[in-house]
This record gives sequence, structure tokens and C-alpha cells, in this order.
Amino acid sequence: MSIVQHLINGELVAKGERTADVFNPSTGQAVRKVELASRATIQQAIDSAKAAFPAWRNTPPAKRAQVMFRFKQLLEQNEAKISQLISEEHGKTLEDAAGELKRGIENVEFACAAPELLKGEYSRNVGPNIDAWSDFQPLGIVAGITPFNFPAMVPLWMYPLAIACGNAFILKPSERDPSSTLFIAQLLLEAGLPKGILNVVHGDKEAVDALIEAPEVKALSFVGSTPIAEYIYAEGTKRGKRVQALGGAKNHAVLMPDADLDNAVSALMGAAYGSCGERCMAISVAVCVGDQVADALIAKLEPQIKALKIGAGTSCGLDMGPLVTAAARDKVVGYIDDGVAAGAKLVVDGRGLRVSGNEDGYFVGGTLFDKVTPQMRIYKEEIFGPVLCVVRVSSLEQAMQLINEHEYGNGTCIFTRDGEAARLFCDEIEVGMVGVNVPLPVPVAYHSFGGWKRSLFGDLHAYGPDGVRFYTRRKAITQRWPQRASHEASQFAFPSL
Ligand code: NAD
Repeated sequence: MSIVQHLINGELVAKGERTADVFNPSTGQAVRKVELASRATIQQAIDSAKAAFPAWRNTPPAKRAQVMFRFKQLLEQNEAKISQLISEEHGKTLEDAAGELKRGIENVEFACAAPELLKGEYSRNVGPNIDAWSDFQPLGIVAGITPFNFPAMVPLWMYPLAIACGNAFILKPSERDPSSTLFIAQLLLEAGLPKGILNVVHGDKEAVDALIEAPEVKALSFVGSTPIAEYIYAEGTKRGKRVQALGGAKNHAVLMPDADLDNAVSALMGAAYGSCGERCMAISVAVCVGDQVADALIAKLEPQIKALKIGAGTSCGLDMGPLVTAAARDKVVGYIDDGVAAGAKLVVDGRGLRVSGNEDGYFVGGTLFDKVTPQMRIYKEEIFGPVLCVVRVSSLEQAMQLINEHEYGNGTCIFTRDGEAARLFCDEIEVGMVGVNVPLPVPVAYHSFGGWKRSLFGDLHAYGPDGVRFYTRRKAITQRWPQRASHEASQFAFPSL
């Protein structure tokens, strides 16, 4: 069985240390092994980044951008291969995999603007013969730790921009589906990135802890579940590092009585069941304002959920693949059991789904609960599976109160034709990313991505303008060139005009 290796100093490296199995979730078979880095291997990656950083930092931003232009072309040329690798290890459909790659490429396009983004500000004559400017300088070595659910897109949120800003980057991708991430990193080297500027080290807690503890690593970008995000934020900031740690979610869609229900249903089907619900922006709660809306919604959703085309992600034309691991499937099934026991009405039951020819795959069918209450675990916790919960309320205010009281605040949306209701929702909702008749309001690459409350620890959101701020330090320079003939006496008062 082949082994997914580390990429250190421009070379694929097999260390023969601990390994983990990588499964194809559609078949339930182990397809590869992945190396799990020790502390010594992480140090090797850090040493390589340290040696490469000074020359890269001094490489003109326009030259760095040229590497990103070539990288973008290579990503586009390799879309089919990358989608196949994603689907094989994650389980999502090929079309969905291609979609995440396209959203990742947007971030490479944004990074191509490095010369413009790093321009800084300049003021002439702030005092006699004095000019002042501020610019954005790289931090040095920065690290990214990424989740399984977007093995292409989430790493691309991070390192193209960090590297275009002049940093060296160490990426620790998810050990569950590492192959597409590694292949993409190799394309960046092929595009002309000097060795050592991007290192990919696979691993688990041991590797992550080594990155957190290394004094050479100046900043950590993390995306994953909330308990680990909180841990990384606490441990990283304690050591003086800059940290952005994006965590889990429970995203609500509010359906107003005046909503275009057919369009809302189409939107909800994709947002709740696409990628088998394994998206941090997936809609997992539909909050219906009034029983009429709830009854009509359920009547339209039920047949569509039962008709979902589910199978091996690598086959074409499907709506949904399997969950990522057997443990993920068991967890989702456990939540469905729990919802039934708690008294929610199970309208469509996805448990026990068998896909012909793929009987050992980790499949759960689309599931719909009605009459879910805020006290139930299926409402409070992130299920990360194809389970949609309908909660019935009687007013927009009540819907908003529910959302604002939830511990997560990643994404939300409202379906309505009423501009006043939409405006109130946008103004008052305590969630970082809001859609109006848009179910998955994932910001484009030139805006930034981030939730509120326990969906993000840190001040700066991911990618876009916040990404530039996160991966750079501002330096303000004040410069005076006195005229030769002049001599100024010492001033003991604080300098002012
Ligand atoms: P995870 O937290 O299990 O793993 C994320 C990363 O942390 C992986 O690289 C993993 O190896 C590492 N890790 C796991 N346990 C660790 C530990 N004890 N100590 C140190 N590092 C550890 O998350 P996941 O299951 O891969 O991804 C799913 C989660 O990610 C969901 O909660 C989802 O909502 C969240 N997510 C959030 C966003 C966002 O933008 N907010 C985006 C994608 C996914």
C-alpha cells in the first residue's frame, strides 16, 4: 500500500515513523497509509522554512505573484485529477470536489494581487523635511492546520496569501484525506516556488503540538472543530503567537411566511445535504415562522430527500456521497437515535442505508426531523451529517432570539420577499456570515471568511483583506533628511509640529 509522504525542503520524505490508514469512505477500504510526523520531523520542516525565508522575503512581491499566476494555471489544468483524489478519500461527489477547488483557486487569484495588497501608505512632509510611511512586512514562518472536509479549499485559504505576503508556510493537513492537499502543494513547487517556502507535514496531535510550541512559528491559522480551535487559540496566544482559529457551526435558515418556498426548498436541499452535510456552512436548522410555512416546507422537502441520489462519490451525477469515516457515520446515527428518543418527529430516516455495490461504505441517507426544540442535543450540537432539523416559531423576533442564543455563529440566512425583515435580520443577527435568499453565504476571496461566538477564536477572519493583515506586520517608518546648511537645536519637549 502506498504511503502519503511529507513534503520538506522541496522533496517528498518518508520517515518510517508512525502511520495511519487512509480510507475510501465509499468502499470502507483502506487505500493508503499516511506518515504521522514526530517532533523531530516538524523541526526539520521548520529548519527548512527558516533557511528559505530570508531570500523569499526579499523577493519582489511582483515576482512572488508570478509564481501564483503559474500555480493557478496548474490547478486549473489538474482539476480532474485533484477532484478524483478528493472524492476518493473524502467521499464527496466529483462535482462537489471540483466546486471546492474552484473556490480555492479564487484565493490564489487574490494572492496574485500581492504587489497592490502590500503597497502600504505614504505621507510626505509630516514635519520639516520629514516623510512617513507604513508598510506590511511578513511575519516569518507561519503554520496552518486544516480539517478533512475541504482538503483543497481550506489550505488554499491560507498558504497562497501567506506566501505571496513573503512568509514561509508549514501546512499540517487532515490525516484523513491528505493526498489532494499534498498533490496541490507539489503543483506550487512546479510553478516555481523555492524549496522550503511551503512544507507539508502530516500528523496528529504530536505534530500540531510541536508547531504550537516552536518559537520559530510566529502565527497559526487553524480550521476545524471548536474544542481543538479553542485549544490551539489558548496554547498559541499563551506563547505570544498570532492565532486565528475557526471552529464548528450550527447554521440556521429562517423561512418567512412570504418566502418563495420553491426556491427556498431547492436552496435548502443543496445546503443541508450537499457534501453529506459535512460543511461548516451547511444549513442544519430550518426555522419556520408559523406552522403553515413548516407544514408546506416539510411537504415539499420529504419527497425530494427520499429521491436523493446517493452513492460512491467518484461516480458521476450523484447528489451525495458517504460520510468520511465509520466513526463519523456512527456519530451521525447516534444523533438520529438521540433525536427520536428526545421526542422530535422523524419525517425521513436515513439510518441503515445500503448502497448496492458499496455495502461497506459509510452511508447515511438524508434525514429530516420536525418539531425539534432548543433543549434537544440534535439542536444544540453540531451533527456534521445529512440531518436537517425543523424548529417552529411564531415570529421573526423569536427566530432571531433563537439564533442569537446559540453558542455558534458561523453562517445563517433568511428567505423572504420583505426588505424590512431582511434588513433587520442583517443588522441584528449575531452571526459572522449572513445570506439573504442565499443559503451558503461563503464570502468570495476578496472579502474575508469568519464566524462569531464559538465559531471563531481570534480577531481576524480568514483570507481576503483580513488574511493580508493576519499574515503581515505593519511597520511605520518616519524619515528625515535635513538640509545640509541647517542645524537644529535639541528639543526636550515631545516632538510636535
Ligand atoms: P478536527 O478538529 O478533528 O481536526 C482539524 C485539525 O486538527 C486536523 O488537522 C487534525 O489533525 C487536528 N487535530 C485533531 N485533534 C487534535 C488535537 N487533539 N490536538 C491538536 N490537533 C488536533 O476537525 P475535522 O473533523 O477535521 O473537521 C470538521 C470540523 O471542522 C467541523 O467542526 C467543522 O464545522 C469545522 N470546520 C470549520 C470551518 C470554519 O470555517 N469555521 C471550516 C471547515 C470545517
